[in-house]
Amino acid sequence: MKYTEGPEIRDTKAPAGPIEERWEKRKFSAKLVNPANKRKLNVIVVGTGLAGGSAAATLGELGYNVKSFCYQDSPRRAHSIAAQGGINAAKNYRGDGDSIYRLFYDTVKGGDFRARESNVYRLAQVSVNIIDQAVAQGVPFAREYGGLLDTRSFGGAQVSRTFYARGQTGQQLLLGAYQALERQVAAGTVTMHTRHEMLDLIVSDGRARGIIVRDMVTGEIERHYADAVVLATGGYGNVFFLSTNAKGCNTTAIWRAHERGAYFANPCYTQIHPTCIPVSGEYQSKLTLMSESLRNDGRVWVPLLKNDTRAPGDIPEEERDYYLERIYPAFGNLVPRDIASRAAKNVCDEGRGVGPGGLGVYLDFRDAINRLGRDAVEKKYGNLFEMYERITGENPYDVPMRIYPAVHYTMGGLWVDYDLQSTVPGLFVIGEANFSDHGANRLGASALMQGLADGYFVLPTTIGDYLAAGPFGDVDEEAVAEAEIRVRNKIDRLLSVNGTRTPDSFHRELGKLMWDYCGMERTEESLRKALDRIPELRAEFWQNVKVTGTAEELNQVLEKAGRVADFFDLAELMCLDALVRTESCGGHFRAESQDADGEALRDDENFAHVSAWEHTPDGPVLHKEALEYEYVKMTQRSYK
Ligand SMILES: Cc1cc2nc3c(=O)[nH]c(=O)nc-3n(C[C@H](O)[C@H](O)[C@H](O)COP(=O)(O)OP(=O)(O)OC[C@H]3O[C@@H](n4cnc5c(N)ncnc54)[C@H](O)[C@@H]3O)c2cc1C
Repeated sequence: MKYTEGPEIRDTKAPAGPIEERWEKRKFSAKLVNPANKRKLNVIVVGTGLAGGSAAATLGELGYNVKSFCYQDSPRRAHSIAAQGGINAAKNYRGDGDSIYRLFYDTVKGGDFRARESNVYRLAQVSVNIIDQAVAQGVPFAREYGGLLDTRSFGGAQVSRTFYARGQTGQQLLLGAYQALERQVAAGTVTMHTRHEMLDLIVSDGRARGIIVRDMVTGEIERHYADAVVLATGGYGNVFFLSTNAKGCNTTAIWRAHERGAYFANPCYTQIHPTCIPVSGEYQSKLTLMSESLRNDGRVWVPLLKNDTRAPGDIPEEERDYYLERIYPAFGNLVPRDIASRAAKNVCDEGRGVGPGGLGVYLDFRDAINRLGRDAVEKKYGNLFEMYERITGENPYDVPMRIYPAVHYTMGGLWVDYDLQSTVPGLFVIGEANFSDHGANRLGASALMQGLADGYFVLPTTIGDYLAAGPFGDVDEEAVAEAEIRVRNKIDRLLSVNGTRTPDSFHRELGKLMWDYCGMERTEESLRKALDRIPELRAEFWQNVKVTGTAEELNQVLEKAGRVADFFDLAELMCLDALVRTESCGGHFRAESQDADGEALRDDENFAHVSAWEHTPDGPVLHKEALEYEYVKMTQRSYK
């Protein structure tokens, strides 16, 4: 796949000056919209997860006219509901040395120095407000005996800053955002459009002015207009077919925006989560996460001997290798996800993996149960243990869990500036859908923090600065008609192929290819193979896919086919991005670039930048945004 290089991105709109004052400065310099004018301004928010739900509720509360969209039957079924372990905040309730600066530092380091300092600092500042907001909504965070909110530890941090509600933190936070959203629906500031899928973005006179959606129940194609559009459509990990994401997660909304002019940043940065239930067979279509919070008390180990088939209970202590504790004594089982995942892969590659096919390591609670008692462990993790037992048939109170890394999160996404605005004026992108704050590796419990920071606090300020110049008048009819025709043509094309293979079978093959060639480890050879094979598979898709049913009805095969078609294009860009970035950093591990200990070896001289890809008819154009570190010194990451 050919690409060219375009001009660098020089201005991200972050204010200059001391880092702790930048967000205050931006808030003060942002233009305000007076309350009477807010009523005349329309905003579309696509997505009702933690990012979109909190944004739509807050914008409604501020007085804007908001239209909210999601493809589920209820906003509260967004994928955010699956989040288990917790949400970070620099509250320092424990007095264990946490601070805004430390959260900032951990996040920049955890992201392997590939995130923007200004954004990350703001995230750490806002984190403390999120907890207050959620508590005020009644989110039932776990509390400790004294009544304060309880915290636990997550990877990449030596302090305990993760707030949680058992293993259901996302669900409880989403219920909070949902309540706030429904309150605005009742107040008439937000109109809710469930079971509507955005299929195109309307760009008129260079501004994002609306979306084309398909009513997923009737098949009707609708046009919706606004003065600004917010995409909060989540991540694209399902390009790998097997992932911990909800089955519906897809790339269509952001890919369409990319085709309409929004740059796509760092598409190759994928997070492989170390603690998931291993794949159990060929027909599996979903992987299940076992929350990182389990690594607070669970100890990860494999047998010292290769091909050891003894039951875990029969392997004596001295014949076990607690390899994370051995290799990384300072962080132990709580090293960041990229490091823990690669370490698991390495011990399995050595032949010391456990379970079928040797693709698993133990996560053992024996010591925690002996130390704390079964009740205490059950209180903290009961629902996760139950989930594990239901899926595997094994009781983790009695035998160690078996876990293996799996695709979990995408740090890449649409490029946004400090205001969370994309390269299309009026198109804002929040939550997992943007690329903004995690660099090359996201620390656990930071996605909920970022989604809610964006939705409750950042976007509602920055979008006002843009909307102050609105309303933007009539939308160009021609632009709308073109967008609608594109949507109709694609649907017709999918339905007319009438081949022999299901969209799912193509998706499975694409996913396997991505996992094998652009997964936990990538090489020039593997990426070139993928870049050769993806266009062939895509061509076969367009000649041989079978989409049953019609466009004028509920048609999940059609929905799926449209999403898979977009995954092909995204997959190609991911592999290109991974090929061009010949360094290793965070979750992007190029086997050619590793140090003597097998750790990711960055090349700061050539790659301390964000790769922002522009879509053009002549192929992708790469724009680089240089990353500068004024506060955290760039070093080779060490968790030893
Ligand atoms: C199993 C699991 C556990 C996790 N646990 C944690 C955790 O403990 N802590 C943490 O910080 N993070 C966790 N994460 C990550 C975190 O859950 C997600 O990153 C985060 O919830 C994403 O929120 P979001 O609002 O950006 O998107 P989502 O919650 O994915 O919401 C996307 C929304 O966009 C809508 N949408 C998408 N495309 C379209 C379209 N074309 N048209 C209309 N609507 C559309 C969907 O309907 C949905 O409403 C976990 C992730 C997984 C998979």
